[in-house]
Amino acid sequence: MMSVHNLGFPRIGKQRELKKHVEAFWRGDINEQVLLAEGKNLREQAWQQQAEAGVELMPVGDFAWYDHVLNMSNWLGVIPQRFRHLPKGLTQYFAMARGYQQQGETLAACKMTKWFDTNYHYIVPEFEKDQGFQLQVDDLLAQIKEAQQLGHQVKPVIVGPVSYLWLSEVTGHGDKLRLLPALLEAYGQLLQHFAELGINWVQLDEPALTLDLPVAWRQAYEQTYHHLQTASVKILLATYFEGLGDNLTYAVNLPVAGLHIDVVRAPEQLISVVDRLPRYKVLSVGIINGRSVWRADLRQLLQKLKPVYQAFGDNLWLAPSCSLLHVPVDLELETQLDTKVKPGLAFAIQKLHELSALALGLREGEAQIADQLAISDQGLQARELAVRPVVQKRLAALTAQAEQRSQPYAERAKVQRAVLQLPLLPTTTIGSFPQTSAIRQLRAKFRKGDIDLTQYHQSLQKEIQFVIQKQEALDLDVLVHGEPERTDMVEYFAEQLAGFVTTQYGWVQSYGSRCVRPPIVIGDVERQQPMTAGWSAFAQSLSNKPVKGMLTGPVTILQWSYPRDDVAPEVSAFQIALALRDEVADLEKAGIHIVQIDEPAFREGVPLQKAAQAHYLHWATRAFRIASAGAKPTTQTHTHMCYSDFNSIIEHIAAMDADVITIESTRAKMQLLAAFEAFSYPNEIGPGVYDIHSPSVPTADDIVKLLQAAMKYIPVERLWVNPDCGLKTRNWEECELALAAMVNAAKQLRQSI
Ligand code: GLN
Ligand code: ZN
Repeated sequence: MMSVHNLGFPRIGKQRELKKHVEAFWRGDINEQVLLAEGKNLREQAWQQQAEAGVELMPVGDFAWYDHVLNMSNWLGVIPQRFRHLPKGLTQYFAMARGYQQQGETLAACKMTKWFDTNYHYIVPEFEKDQGFQLQVDDLLAQIKEAQQLGHQVKPVIVGPVSYLWLSEVTGHGDKLRLLPALLEAYGQLLQHFAELGINWVQLDEPALTLDLPVAWRQAYEQTYHHLQTASVKILLATYFEGLGDNLTYAVNLPVAGLHIDVVRAPEQLISVVDRLPRYKVLSVGIINGRSVWRADLRQLLQKLKPVYQAFGDNLWLAPSCSLLHVPVDLELETQLDTKVKPGLAFAIQKLHELSALALGLREGEAQIADQLAISDQGLQARELAVRPVVQKRLAALTAQAEQRSQPYAERAKVQRAVLQLPLLPTTTIGSFPQTSAIRQLRAKFRKGDIDLTQYHQSLQKEIQFVIQKQEALDLDVLVHGEPERTDMVEYFAEQLAGFVTTQYGWVQSYGSRCVRPPIVIGDVERQQPMTAGWSAFAQSLSNKPVKGMLTGPVTILQWSYPRDDVAPEVSAFQIALALRDEVADLEKAGIHIVQIDEPAFREGVPLQKAAQAHYLHWATRAFRIASAGAKPTTQTHTHMCYSDFNSIIEHIAAMDADVITIESTRAKMQLLAAFEAFSYPNEIGPGVYDIHSPSVPTADDIVKLLQAAMKYIPVERLWVNPDCGLKTRNWEECELALAAMVNAAKQLRQSI
């Protein structure tokens, strides 16, 4: 039978239930037993929802208390030494995820980083030099039994061994691939356990197979799947996020029973794979976009699938392109979406319905799915909305000159110095100050209607006043207004821009219990009125020191939203950039002399495969320049990126031509500045001098040392002094102590120079 299956389902629940339970457990409000029971409930619901939507082969193993890669580490017994004395189970698990502080004992969490090119973060497996593997999979096997007892046909879903190894880090030295044989033993045992439970198919996620792999890693794939082919379960090798590219020939010949390919991201590979994959294997076609929230064009997809069905018959399986982890659960919860927009959208549950419609249409003919085709047609019409010719014309008319500042950096820097009168090593922060419970309550009251807009704005102004006073007392040189009016740095802009919609419940997991609600770009983007200038002008009126205007950059706004799929991403990025360009002009009119345009998502947008990278970097840089280059020479532009690895993109960072860039660098002890030095990066840099992710407060001495280290790479005239990132997640006490130390350090150094 041709099968509809799913690669993975959102684990957080329709209303972020998982977040609520897990956080309650962390606070000690519920005990482990209650948490376990709630998790079981959530899994049952997820399976039920999938079954109702027509999923025939149920993914199990995609549930995680925190992260599925961390799950894999636990199942394989990859527990770094420092956690091994802790009680096994949730204590150890959450300690690895979030660090551990109890009774004078402090253990640093494992590293967290982005899952391929998504905004989901996984916990990096941490291997010791001679890492052993020891299965502890009782919880996974129990989940399989749970699902079987409920009558589901189960397909366990786990991270495949090569991708798991690829994503891991070995402490000290050592070639990770040396660990492969031992790892394969463990995977072999795990597959055996599955077989004993009567499992027929297992899905091994191997997104790494879509990367430009070094030869040794490509060979690792052969070694791995030759080793695992003796298992008594059938393996579906799942690839996604990119096409197989150069690895295609290898992939189709690997000794596995089935191959899943992403034909949303890489439609062109469908024909090649159909040609080359032996027909006795299962071909799982990832046909519905697991990364977007758009309804599919079912008529078109049916045409595309027909020849594949003819070729593969029942060996054709249909699936979303990747796990549905990256989309919200259920569109039906959205009661406030524009009724003209909503028919064009599909969340996880709706996407599964689309899949089953396609399957039915293939098996029994289009007449059988007339209703679903009508829904699909209606969805397509919804997409023809929101065409704004004015924006399109403006973009087309944009000159190369408009994308360049009117003076080169060296000249601007002189006039900016004259206007701003800043000391050497100017001190500043990245933008946000603590989001206190008072601010959150204020927002809740406003949403509920307990206070009106005027009262809400007055309270926000009070908050801004407070933040300005604090910064003056700390004697910072460049102030910020603190961003209390923003729930989120992207949503805030999306709510005000035409061409975007925001959702009520469109949550997706970002990491652990943190969820985000990405806005959706539905058409041409246009600014309707000033978005930030009022708040910045108010803040500036309270101080004689410069207050930075604070904008989120075009690349980040787009990257952290669901993009359109009917135009190239750069079209939206440029339109957003034009809106921001107008905002910069309004900030200038409001008397603001420094404008920061944050681009924390700039690097994560870099495509996975080398061939596509240059194009992205070109347009992303252009988008930033469209947003910022209209600034007067006297206006100092800043950007902020909260990571530290710039090696491969430094020339593009330079091409953005921000007067000042603030970056993360504390943990790398300023070594990353070597890349800037090597490139002779010409503009100013603020390497973060303390880690805002940690509650520990730095001393002035610590900071002096870091700045001295920084001065070895960057001339002091071009150095700024600031934390690593925004202070939103910290409390005031920590902020004041840390910032006092920072200002103190800058003052000490100024005297010594
Ligand atoms: N201006 C933002 C803040 O301070 C920047 C956040 C970020 O880089 N992620 O919160
Ligand atoms: Zn940051």
